Amino acid sequence: MEKVLIVDDSILQATQLKSILDEEYDVTMVHTAQDGLRLAASGEFALVLLDVVMPDMDGFMLLKKLQEEIITQHIPVILITSLNDIEHEQKGLTLGAVDYIVKPFHPLIVQARVNTHVKLYQYRKQVEDQSMTDQLTGVSNRRRHDHYSTVKWQEAARLQVPFSICMFDIDKFKVYNDTFGHPAGDRVIAAVAQTASEHLRRSTDFFARYGGEEFVAFLIGDDAEKAFSHLKKIRQAVEDLHIPHSPSVSPWVTVSIGGVTVMPRVESSYDTYLKIADTMLYDAKRFGRNQVVWSDGRTNHWREKNI
Ligand code: GH3
Ligand code: MG
Ligand code: MG
Repeated sequence: MEKVLIVDDSILQATQLKSILDEEYDVTMVHTAQDGLRLAASGEFALVLLDVVMPDMDGFMLLKKLQEEIITQHIPVILITSLNDIEHEQKGLTLGAVDYIVKPFHPLIVQARVNTHVKLYQYRKQVEDQSMTDQLTGVSNRRRHDHYSTVKWQEAARLQVPFSICMFDIDKFKVYNDTFGHPAGDRVIAAVAQTASEHLRRSTDFFARYGGEEFVAFLIGDDAEKAFSHLKKIRQAVEDLHIPHSPSVSPWVTVSIGGVTVMPRVESSYDTYLKIADTMLYDAKRFGRNQVVWSDGRTNHWREKNI
């Protein structure tokens, strides 16, 4: 059941709206714009029904604030008011409301309009989700990575929690393709993606296919030692899949991983550290592949294997 949020200072009117929508939706009511803003920020709602005239912050102001935040800017907002003059309606629509219902309203009309906008929202979410998912592996693609990494980096910088970024690359994969063929190579990419993503399932973890046979991940909250040891487990788990590689290369398909753990600062950029992770990956390749190399973003780094 989709969640709908009603923001209306009149308890009577909010209750009336809720009873109209209760059967089809999971409806939450709040009676101040501040509470509306706080709840909408959860990103759980498929639609907001918003009263225009409220004390303190009015509906127009709340609408503006919702439009400014990445998490809430795409939630459809229907304004409800008795202000049936053209100017208010125009102002609401210009500010980004998807629709405008004038009191007194008819229950069937409210239902029909809400249904339409929830359906459009679901469709939009589905298209967006597809455009951010890698078709071969089903994990996130580079587009979602680029989007989330920026958002999460800023968040972690505000909260001052450590941030780890790592790059994975399948070892000698060109030889694999040349030996077993491209379709077999595709299945390996999917298997590696599945194994790695199974180990990165916390809500603060993120994993994506970066392109080709390369993956990227970030972990929030772990110190360097923990992140390094977790990535070593993932590296081992890929080896333990025991997917035969070309005998000229190694018994099994393996990955090399490079990573970095830092305390993010708002004025520093995620991309700077992604580049460091990539340099560590290059070192992992140089030092013999099938291993993890980690950096603290300054001068220290750790190698899983010493040659
Ligand atoms: P290294 O250990 O240094 O990473 O060696 P490598 O052979 O893996 O590196 P290189 O970058 O030279 O080759 C990557 C290969 O990955 C070449 C390309 O054919 C293959 N590849 C990239 N994307 C795909 C894909 O989507 N499917 C398949 N099957 N192969 C891919
Ligand atoms: Mg590569
Ligand atoms: Mg490779």
